[in-house]
Amino acid sequence: MSWHQTSIALMAKALAAKEVSSMELTQYFLSRIEAEKRWNAYLDVNAHLSLEQANKADTLIAAGKGTRLTGIPVAHKDVFVTRGWKSTAASKILENYQSPFDATVVANLGMPSEKNPHGAGMVCLGKTNMDEFAMGSSNENSAFGPVLNPWNGQYVSGGSSGGSAAAVAAGLAPIATGSDTGGSIRQPSAFCGITGIKPSYGRVSRYGMIAYASSLDQAGPMGKTAEDCALLLTAMSSHDPRDSTSLADSGEDYSRFLNKPWQDSSTNSAKPLEGLRVGLPKEFFAEGLAQDVANAVNAAAKALADLGATLVEVSLPKTKLSIPVYYVLAPAEASSNLSRFDGVRYGHRANEYKDLGDMYQKSRTEGFGAEVRRRILIGTYVLCHGYYDAYYLQAQKIRRIIAADFQAAFNQCDVILGPVAPDVAWRLGEKSKDPVQMYLEDIYTLSTNLAGLPAMSVPCGFNANDLPIGMQLIGNYFSEARLLQVAHQYQQASDWHLRQASEVA
Ligand code: GLN
Repeated sequence: MSWHQTSIALMAKALAAKEVSSMELTQYFLSRIEAEKRWNAYLDVNAHLSLEQANKADTLIAAGKGTRLTGIPVAHKDVFVTRGWKSTAASKILENYQSPFDATVVANLGMPSEKNPHGAGMVCLGKTNMDEFAMGSSNENSAFGPVLNPWNGQYVSGGSSGGSAAAVAAGLAPIATGSDTGGSIRQPSAFCGITGIKPSYGRVSRYGMIAYASSLDQAGPMGKTAEDCALLLTAMSSHDPRDSTSLADSGEDYSRFLNKPWQDSSTNSAKPLEGLRVGLPKEFFAEGLAQDVANAVNAAAKALADLGATLVEVSLPKTKLSIPVYYVLAPAEASSNLSRFDGVRYGHRANEYKDLGDMYQKSRTEGFGAEVRRRILIGTYVLCHGYYDAYYLQAQKIRRIIAADFQAAFNQCDVILGPVAPDVAWRLGEKSKDPVQMYLEDIYTLSTNLAGLPAMSVPCGFNANDLPIGMQLIGNYFSEARLLQVAHQYQQASDWHLRQASEVA
């Protein structure tokens, strides 16, 4: 097995046993990144800096001062500002922008220092491509070209964290960070056959994560296995006084239930998931779901039942409304968040202009791509005086109902199971001309962001064209460790997550 096929759990063991050094691992992945540029997964690499960090990591390990993750390489979605690498959110308006500080996620995972004593000591491999400002479901909205799907280069990687998903799937990073405002960790994970988790809102700091829709944005890990995601999430999470919505506690060890049975051992149950109630929302299996995706998710439900779980039908009646609600609220917040890109403080400024108004207008028109401009316009419209009550306020009210529907469902079950997306990855260009068609693809992922719940994507099959299918597991607030436990138990009994795109490609 080569390093790009190795989980970070095993990599950590190899580093601890001195079977490999961080320098060797980092060099290995940098060479693969160089050789596999065709996927367009990275926007910026800086081999010199990465190797410098690897060297530091090796020194820490030799001195017995490393954490479990010290020396393991990680790629960061370009939405996280990173000292030493460009931070562009895949937008022309931030082309070549260099941040003077690290996002909390980057610092938590990065090299420890006097100022950052709790850094996990992971090595940054570079910044991954994404949809501009995380707006999109296919990665075709990047100002620097789309990311191709490593399972088949004619298909999209999903979005907006498509670069991170493709980097892990193509073996160009052992694990990566992503962000999820309406599905951007889960959907590209599903499309690229990897595992990803969006934690509860507030679990991971948003400080230094370039804001899209602040009440929905949440960062999380994207890796090969649930176990790897648990390791990264543990290191990513912290209370952060610089993010006012950061949870008061600093998180937990998300690996702690992985190998435990669902119920405590006093029941002596023979099956690992005995006692777990899995809810299947009927609205997630209704019209619009591709048959092969439905079949794979149903087979996964049966696999969970074989592990001891009980399946129950639940209802999330407002599922369809999550699309209009999200596509009112997210643009509204975006229109406000993106007002900082005005050509004055940082980023692109038009060369010629008549006056201040003209300068704003030209800089923003030139700097933002079409989808970002569309959302700023929609967001400004729904917030304006005459329409606020009809759109923004109404959407906020339905958001509350959507969250309440989940709580009703969780009276009947412990986790909810459904598809991540209605279909597998589509062909490049197939949906990019019709934004509404693209928005409809987000139907199963948006509601968890509206409710603030944790949810993950787990590989559960392939369609007839060998494109990966993902199942979605949704948990109640702060149940990440339990979700990861269910996913890990499923992965112990299945091998979909072990199939490698890098062997097919
Ligand atoms: N596809 C959704 C959008 O375009 C979600 C994106 C995200 O989660 N960042 O807004």
